[in-house]
Amino acid sequence: MFKALLINKDDAGYSAALQTIDETVLPAGDVTVQVEWSTLNYKDALAITGTSPVVRRFPMVPGIDFAGTVLSSTNAAWAAGDKVILNGWGVGETHCGGLAEVARVKGEWLLALPSNFTTRQAMAIGTAGYTAMLCVLALEKHGIRPADGEILVTGASGGVGSVAIAVLATLGYTVVASTGRLDEADYLKALGASQVIDRSELSKPGKAISKERWAGVIDSVGSHTLANACASTKYRGAVAACGLAGGMDFPATVAPFILRGVTLYGIDSVMAPLQVRQEAWQRLSRDLDIAKLDAITHEITLSSAIAVATELLAGKVRGRVVVDVKR
Ligand code: NDP
Repeated sequence: MFKALLINKDDAGYSAALQTIDETVLPAGDVTVQVEWSTLNYKDALAITGTSPVVRRFPMVPGIDFAGTVLSSTNAAWAAGDKVILNGWGVGETHCGGLAEVARVKGEWLLALPSNFTTRQAMAIGTAGYTAMLCVLALEKHGIRPADGEILVTGASGGVGSVAIAVLATLGYTVVASTGRLDEADYLKALGASQVIDRSELSKPGKAISKERWAGVIDSVGSHTLANACASTKYRGAVAACGLAGGMDFPATVAPFILRGVTLYGIDSVMAPLQVRQEAWQRLSRDLDIAKLDAITHEITLSSAIAVATELLAGKVRGRVVVDVKR
């Protein structure tokens, strides 16, 4: 028997609760993992609270990420004792996830824990941090270099935003952080932002095209923020869009794309191919300052995850949340 968060939907409604379950609840898979750390991402908070239809099978253990040690494996790639991480692949949505002491998954979904990270540090990064790195890689591969100018990071105090700022600063970029929490300006500057702006500058309906400012953008907010970011991106610049914290709509015109040659990259972490994930994690192990990661990380217990999910959706949680699944 082991502890797990369990989401149910039945005649009584949608519910999430900490429960003691056994392995018969877990779906089929060729690798069973002793989960050491999991995390709370925005999507996990949506799943736990039932705010969006993230969970598509019931009962479901939420948690799109986990890191731990292989307990048993019939997959040739993994053996008992291997340290592994998992991000996405529908885990925590259609396949029981990481907010439990034990998980059973397909071996091809797992990655080896990078040697310079502990399982806790890997989950402090989690899907949000790995997605931030996918965004950085998109801008880099577009050819944007530090000398090209400012990079805008929206949703700056959140998980994606915090890791993006830390990585960009290490790489020498000049980062402008857009936040609704100006009282977090010292935190954002300590991560490496050179300037902090109020998100209200970007969140209202704006012009089809406006003054060129950003060499590149990492956006986790969507809606008018994304439209305004595109409208003020420099000639042949690029925008990496990964989130919808401010809305799923995209009230933009084609002007930035056809007049300024701006490129909009869509970033998906869930189904990203193995080599893309490996590259992102390898770059995180090289380019993310562990001291900054510690400042970004906030530890909670499995038993408090339901309450923290509500706070996270209310925009009250800063940085990344790691979950100790044993407590
Ligand atoms: P967090 O909740 O940690 O951060 C989101 C941040 O967005 C908040 O901290 C806040 O930053 C800002 N924000 C919140 N609400 C609003 C609002 N109404 N308007 C404008 N800004 C707002 O979430 P994550 O960083 O984990 O995820 C961010 C987004 O990226 C989510 O939409 C998530 O679903 C998405 N995502 C997508 C992935 C993919 O594969 N494409 C993978 C991972 C995440 P501040 O207070 O600084 O303004």
